[in-house]
Amino acid sequence: MAVSVNDTSDAASHPALAPGLYIVATPIGNLNDITLRAVDVLTRCDGVACEDTRVTGKLMRHLGLSKPLWRYNDHAEERDRTRLVESMANRAVALVSDAGTPLISDPGYRLVNAAREAGVEVQTIPGPCAAIAAITLAGLPSDRFLFAGFLPVKEKARADMLAQFAAVDATLLFYESAGRLVKSLSAIDRALPGRRVAVARELTKLYEECRLDTPAALIAHYEAKPPKGEIVLLVEPPHEAEASAEDVDALLREALLTEKPSQAAAKVAKATGADRKALYARALELR
Ligand code: SAM
Repeated sequence: MAVSVNDTSDAASHPALAPGLYIVATPIGNLNDITLRAVDVLTRCDGVACEDTRVTGKLMRHLGLSKPLWRYNDHAEERDRTRLVESMANRAVALVSDAGTPLISDPGYRLVNAAREAGVEVQTIPGPCAAIAAITLAGLPSDRFLFAGFLPVKEKARADMLAQFAAVDATLLFYESAGRLVKSLSAIDRALPGRRVAVARELTKLYEECRLDTPAALIAHYEAKPPKGEIVLLVEPPHEAEASAEDVDALLREALLTEKPSQAAAKVAKATGADRKALYARALELR
Protein backbone atom coordinates (compact mmCIF):
# COMPACT_ATOMS: atom_id res chain seq x y z
CA MET A 1 0.00 0.00 0.00
CA ALA A 2 2.87 2.42 0.74
CA VAL A 3 3.89 4.58 -2.20
CA SER A 4 6.80 6.67 -0.94
CA VAL A 5 9.04 6.21 2.05
CA ASN A 6 11.72 8.88 1.78
CA ASP A 7 10.74 11.38 4.40
CA THR A 8 12.99 14.41 3.98
CA SER A 9 11.56 16.48 6.83
CA ASP A 10 14.12 17.67 9.31
CA ALA A 11 13.57 15.76 12.58
CA ALA A 12 15.26 18.41 14.74
CA SER A 13 13.19 21.38 13.52
CA HIS A 14 10.01 19.31 13.13
CA PRO A 15 9.60 17.07 16.17
CA ALA A 16 7.39 14.07 15.59
CA LEU A 17 3.70 14.27 16.40
CA ALA A 18 2.13 12.19 19.14
CA PRO A 19 0.82 8.92 17.71
CA GLY A 20 -2.80 8.98 16.59
CA LEU A 21 -5.13 9.89 13.75
CA TYR A 22 -5.17 13.46 12.41
CA ILE A 23 -8.08 14.49 10.15
CA VAL A 24 -6.61 17.16 7.88
CA ALA A 25 -8.68 19.42 5.59
CA THR A 26 -6.93 20.45 2.36
CA PRO A 27 -7.79 23.13 -0.26
CA ILE A 28 -10.81 22.80 -2.59
CA GLY A 29 -9.09 24.78 -5.34
CA ASN A 30 -6.87 27.58 -4.18
CA LEU A 31 -3.77 26.00 -2.64
CA ASN A 32 -3.20 29.08 -0.48
CA ASP A 33 -6.22 28.00 1.55
CA ILE A 34 -4.26 25.31 3.36
CA THR A 35 -4.07 26.14 7.06
CA LEU A 36 -0.83 26.58 9.00
CA ARG A 37 -1.86 23.73 11.24
CA ALA A 38 -2.52 21.42 8.27
CA VAL A 39 1.00 22.14 6.97
CA ASP A 40 2.43 21.52 10.41
CA VAL A 41 0.67 18.15 10.78
CA LEU A 42 1.57 17.04 7.24
CA THR A 43 5.19 18.03 7.95
CA ARG A 44 5.41 16.18 11.24
CA CYS A 45 3.24 13.10 10.66
CA ASP A 46 4.65 9.67 9.90
CA GLY A 47 2.49 9.11 6.84
CA VAL A 48 -0.68 10.14 5.04
CA ALA A 49 -3.76 8.02 4.35
CA CYS A 50 -5.42 9.40 1.21
CA GLU A 51 -7.99 8.63 -1.47
CA ASP A 52 -5.65 8.95 -4.43
CA THR A 53 -1.88 8.94 -3.97
CA ARG A 54 -1.37 10.93 -7.21
CA VAL A 55 -3.64 13.76 -6.07
CA THR A 56 -2.17 13.92 -2.56
CA GLY A 57 1.34 13.46 -3.97
CA LYS A 58 0.84 16.71 -5.92
CA LEU A 59 -0.20 18.59 -2.78
CA MET A 60 2.75 17.18 -0.83
CA ARG A 61 5.19 18.20 -3.58
CA HIS A 62 3.64 21.68 -3.60
CA LEU A 63 4.38 21.83 0.15
CA GLY A 64 7.90 20.47 -0.38
CA LEU A 65 7.09 17.34 1.63
CA SER A 66 7.71 13.69 0.99
CA LYS A 67 5.95 11.16 3.22
CA PRO A 68 4.68 7.63 2.90
CA LEU A 69 1.25 7.78 1.26
CA TRP A 70 -1.24 4.99 1.95
CA ARG A 71 -4.32 4.59 -0.20
CA TYR A 72 -7.43 4.46 1.96
CA ASN A 73 -11.18 4.58 1.40
CA ASP A 74 -14.12 3.34 3.43
CA HIS A 75 -14.50 0.33 1.12
CA ALA A 76 -11.05 -0.87 2.19
CA GLU A 77 -10.92 -4.41 3.48
CA GLU A 78 -11.62 -4.60 7.20
CA ARG A 79 -8.18 -6.09 7.81
CA ASP A 80 -6.45 -3.17 6.00
CA ARG A 81 -8.35 -0.71 8.16
CA THR A 82 -7.50 -2.70 11.29
CA ARG A 83 -3.82 -2.75 10.32
CA LEU A 84 -3.83 1.02 9.71
CA VAL A 85 -5.52 1.64 13.07
CA GLU A 86 -3.08 -0.69 14.84
CA SER A 87 -0.18 1.27 13.36
CA MET A 88 -1.56 4.41 15.05
CA ALA A 89 -0.40 3.03 18.39
CA ASN A 90 3.08 4.34 17.54
CA ARG A 91 2.58 6.39 14.34
CA ALA A 92 0.94 9.73 13.63
CA VAL A 93 -1.29 9.15 10.61
CA ALA A 94 -2.84 12.09 8.73
CA LEU A 95 -6.06 11.41 6.84
CA VAL A 96 -6.74 13.66 3.84
CA SER A 97 -9.16 13.45 0.93
CA ASP A 98 -8.56 14.61 -2.64
CA ALA A 99 -9.88 18.04 -1.67
CA GLY A 100 -11.65 19.66 1.26
CA THR A 101 -12.61 18.11 4.55
CA PRO A 102 -12.33 14.33 4.94
CA LEU A 103 -15.61 12.54 5.84
CA ILE A 104 -17.74 15.24 4.13
CA SER A 105 -19.01 13.22 1.15
CA ASP A 106 -15.58 11.61 1.36
CA PRO A 107 -14.01 8.57 3.07
CA GLY A 108 -13.05 8.55 6.73
CA TYR A 109 -16.09 7.79 8.85
CA ARG A 110 -15.28 4.11 9.25
CA LEU A 111 -11.62 4.86 9.99
CA VAL A 112 -12.48 7.44 12.67
CA ASN A 113 -14.97 5.02 14.18
CA ALA A 114 -12.46 2.16 14.22
CA ALA A 115 -9.74 4.42 15.67
CA ARG A 116 -12.02 5.62 18.46
CA GLU A 117 -13.08 2.08 19.28
CA ALA A 118 -9.41 1.09 19.50
CA GLY A 119 -8.74 3.95 21.92
CA VAL A 120 -6.59 5.87 19.41
CA GLU A 121 -6.27 9.63 19.91
CA VAL A 122 -8.17 11.41 17.09
CA GLN A 123 -7.68 15.09 16.31
CA THR A 124 -9.27 17.25 13.63
CA ILE A 125 -7.51 19.99 11.71
CA PRO A 126 -10.43 21.88 10.15
CA GLY A 127 -10.21 23.92 6.97
CA PRO A 128 -11.74 24.21 3.49
CA CYS A 129 -15.10 22.56 2.81
CA ALA A 130 -17.13 23.30 -0.35
CA ALA A 131 -20.50 23.19 1.47
CA ILE A 132 -19.40 25.72 4.08
CA ALA A 133 -17.75 27.97 1.47
CA ALA A 134 -20.98 27.89 -0.58
CA ILE A 135 -23.29 28.85 2.29
CA THR A 136 -21.09 31.88 3.00
CA LEU A 137 -21.42 33.05 -0.59
CA ALA A 138 -24.99 32.34 -1.67
CA GLY A 139 -26.91 35.01 0.22
CA LEU A 140 -29.40 32.44 1.54
CA PRO A 141 -30.27 31.97 5.23
CA SER A 142 -27.27 30.46 6.96
CA ASP A 143 -28.64 30.16 10.49
CA ARG A 144 -30.08 26.75 9.69
CA PHE A 145 -29.03 24.52 6.79
CA LEU A 146 -29.23 20.88 5.88
CA PHE A 147 -26.35 19.37 3.95
CA ALA A 148 -27.41 16.20 2.16
CA GLY A 149 -24.35 15.24 0.09
CA PHE A 150 -24.95 14.27 -3.52
CA LEU A 151 -28.49 14.12 -4.91
CA PRO A 152 -29.28 10.62 -6.20
CA VAL A 153 -28.55 10.15 -9.90
CA LYS A 154 -31.76 8.22 -10.64
CA GLU A 155 -34.77 10.42 -11.33
CA LYS A 156 -37.23 8.71 -8.99
CA ALA A 157 -34.77 8.52 -6.06
CA ARG A 158 -33.85 12.18 -6.62
CA ALA A 159 -37.52 13.27 -6.67
CA ASP A 160 -38.22 11.19 -3.54
CA MET A 161 -35.31 12.73 -1.65
CA LEU A 162 -36.36 16.27 -2.59
CA ALA A 163 -39.98 15.55 -1.57
CA GLN A 164 -38.69 14.27 1.77
CA PHE A 165 -36.97 17.64 2.35
CA ALA A 166 -39.93 19.81 1.22
CA ALA A 167 -41.04 20.66 4.75
CA VAL A 168 -37.56 21.18 6.19
CA ASP A 169 -37.33 24.79 7.35
CA ALA A 170 -33.70 25.31 6.37
CA THR A 171 -31.50 26.08 3.38
CA LEU A 172 -30.78 22.79 1.60
CA LEU A 173 -27.28 22.04 0.30
CA PHE A 174 -26.29 19.40 -2.23
CA TYR A 175 -23.10 18.53 -4.04
CA GLU A 176 -23.64 18.23 -7.79
CA SER A 177 -21.73 17.54 -10.97
CA ALA A 178 -21.76 19.91 -13.93
CA GLY A 179 -23.21 17.24 -16.20
CA ARG A 180 -26.28 16.71 -14.00
CA LEU A 181 -26.90 20.36 -13.04
CA VAL A 182 -29.79 21.08 -15.42
CA LYS A 183 -31.59 17.82 -14.57
CA SER A 184 -31.27 18.55 -10.86
CA LEU A 185 -32.52 22.12 -11.29
CA SER A 186 -35.61 20.77 -13.11
CA ALA A 187 -36.17 18.23 -10.34
CA ILE A 188 -35.92 20.96 -7.68
CA ASP A 189 -38.35 23.15 -9.62
CA ARG A 190 -40.88 20.30 -9.71
CA ALA A 191 -40.45 19.13 -6.11
CA LEU A 192 -39.95 22.51 -4.40
CA PRO A 193 -41.83 25.03 -6.59
CA GLY A 194 -41.31 28.73 -6.05
CA ARG A 195 -37.93 28.40 -4.33
CA ARG A 196 -34.83 30.14 -5.55
CA VAL A 197 -31.66 28.16 -6.02
CA ALA A 198 -28.01 29.16 -5.82
CA VAL A 199 -25.41 27.51 -8.00
CA ALA A 200 -21.98 27.92 -6.37
CA ARG A 201 -19.41 26.77 -8.91
CA GLU A 202 -15.63 26.41 -8.92
CA LEU A 203 -15.29 27.89 -5.44
CA THR A 204 -11.89 29.44 -4.67
CA LYS A 205 -10.78 28.83 -8.26
CA LEU A 206 -10.19 31.20 -11.18
CA TYR A 207 -13.74 30.92 -12.57
CA GLU A 208 -15.59 30.96 -9.25
CA GLU A 209 -19.21 32.04 -9.65
CA CYS A 210 -22.36 32.04 -7.57
CA ARG A 211 -25.77 32.63 -9.19
CA LEU A 212 -28.94 32.95 -7.14
CA ASP A 213 -32.10 32.80 -9.23
CA THR A 214 -35.21 30.83 -10.05
CA PRO A 215 -34.58 27.31 -11.35
CA ALA A 216 -36.15 28.33 -14.70
CA ALA A 217 -33.72 31.25 -15.13
CA LEU A 218 -30.76 29.06 -14.11
CA ILE A 219 -31.80 26.31 -16.52
CA ALA A 220 -32.03 28.87 -19.35
CA HIS A 221 -28.58 30.19 -18.44
CA TYR A 222 -26.85 26.82 -18.18
CA GLU A 223 -28.54 25.40 -21.28
CA ALA A 224 -27.12 28.34 -23.23
CA LYS A 225 -23.74 28.07 -21.50
CA PRO A 226 -23.13 24.49 -20.28
CA PRO A 227 -21.37 24.60 -16.91
CA LYS A 228 -17.98 23.12 -16.15
CA GLY A 229 -16.27 22.22 -12.92
CA GLU A 230 -17.50 21.50 -9.41
CA ILE A 231 -20.81 22.66 -8.02
CA VAL A 232 -22.71 23.13 -4.78
CA LEU A 233 -26.47 23.61 -5.11
CA LEU A 234 -28.36 25.53 -2.44
CA VAL A 235 -32.14 25.75 -2.20
CA GLU A 236 -33.82 28.48 -0.21
CA PRO A 237 -36.03 27.46 2.73
CA PRO A 238 -39.81 27.21 2.24
CA HIS A 239 -41.62 30.55 2.31
CA GLU A 240 -43.93 31.41 5.17
CA ALA A 241 -47.52 30.34 4.52
CA GLU A 242 -48.75 32.39 1.58
CA ALA A 243 -50.08 35.78 2.61
CA SER A 244 -53.65 36.58 1.54
CA ALA A 245 -54.29 39.30 -1.06
CA GLU A 246 -55.57 41.57 1.74
CA ASP A 247 -52.43 40.98 3.82
CA VAL A 248 -50.25 41.77 0.81
CA ASP A 249 -52.19 44.97 0.08
CA ALA A 250 -51.86 46.03 3.71
CA LEU A 251 -48.09 45.42 3.65
CA LEU A 252 -47.76 47.28 0.35
CA ARG A 253 -49.80 50.27 1.61
CA GLU A 254 -47.63 50.47 4.68
CA ALA A 255 -44.41 50.22 2.69
CA LEU A 256 -45.63 52.86 0.22
CA LEU A 257 -45.86 55.39 3.05
CA THR A 258 -42.07 55.59 3.07
CA GLU A 259 -40.81 53.82 -0.06
CA LYS A 260 -41.06 54.12 -3.83
CA PRO A 261 -43.25 51.45 -5.53
CA SER A 262 -40.23 49.43 -6.68
CA GLN A 263 -38.69 49.42 -3.20
CA ALA A 264 -42.04 48.65 -1.56
CA ALA A 265 -42.54 45.73 -3.97
CA ALA A 266 -39.04 44.39 -3.22
CA LYS A 267 -39.60 44.67 0.53
CA VAL A 268 -42.97 42.88 0.43
CA ALA A 269 -41.62 40.24 -1.96
CA LYS A 270 -38.88 39.48 0.52
CA ALA A 271 -41.33 39.26 3.40
CA THR A 272 -43.97 37.15 1.66
CA GLY A 273 -42.18 35.31 -1.13
CA ALA A 274 -44.74 36.75 -3.59
CA ASP A 275 -43.68 37.67 -7.11
CA ARG A 276 -41.92 41.06 -7.16
CA LYS A 277 -43.19 42.11 -10.63
CA ALA A 278 -46.80 41.41 -9.67
CA LEU A 279 -46.27 43.34 -6.42
CA TYR A 280 -44.81 46.28 -8.34
CA ALA A 281 -47.85 46.40 -10.62
CA ARG A 282 -50.13 46.30 -7.57
CA ALA A 283 -48.05 48.97 -5.82
CA LEU A 284 -48.54 51.29 -8.81
CA GLU A 285 -52.30 50.75 -8.55
CA LEU A 286 -52.36 51.39 -4.81
CA ARG A 287 -50.07 54.42 -4.85
N1 SAM B 1 -14.86 16.69 1.17
C1 SAM B 1 -15.11 17.71 0.19
C2 SAM B 1 -15.47 19.02 0.91
O1 SAM B 1 -15.09 19.19 2.06
O2 SAM B 1 -16.10 19.89 0.30
C3 SAM B 1 -16.17 17.29 -0.81
C4 SAM B 1 -15.83 16.05 -1.56
S1 SAM B 1 -17.05 15.53 -2.69
C5 SAM B 1 -16.42 13.99 -3.24
C6 SAM B 1 -16.71 16.52 -4.10
C7 SAM B 1 -17.85 17.48 -4.41
O3 SAM B 1 -17.71 18.65 -3.59
C8 SAM B 1 -17.83 18.02 -5.83
O4 SAM B 1 -18.48 17.13 -6.72
C9 SAM B 1 -18.60 19.30 -5.69
O5 SAM B 1 -19.99 19.08 -5.64
C10 SAM B 1 -18.11 19.78 -4.32
N2 SAM B 1 -16.93 20.64 -4.49
C11 SAM B 1 -15.65 20.33 -4.20
N3 SAM B 1 -14.84 21.37 -4.50
C12 SAM B 1 -15.63 22.36 -4.97
C13 SAM B 1 -15.40 23.67 -5.44
N4 SAM B 1 -14.16 24.18 -5.50
N5 SAM B 1 -16.46 24.41 -5.85
C14 SAM B 1 -17.71 23.91 -5.79
N6 SAM B 1 -17.98 22.66 -5.36
C15 SAM B 1 -16.97 21.90 -4.96
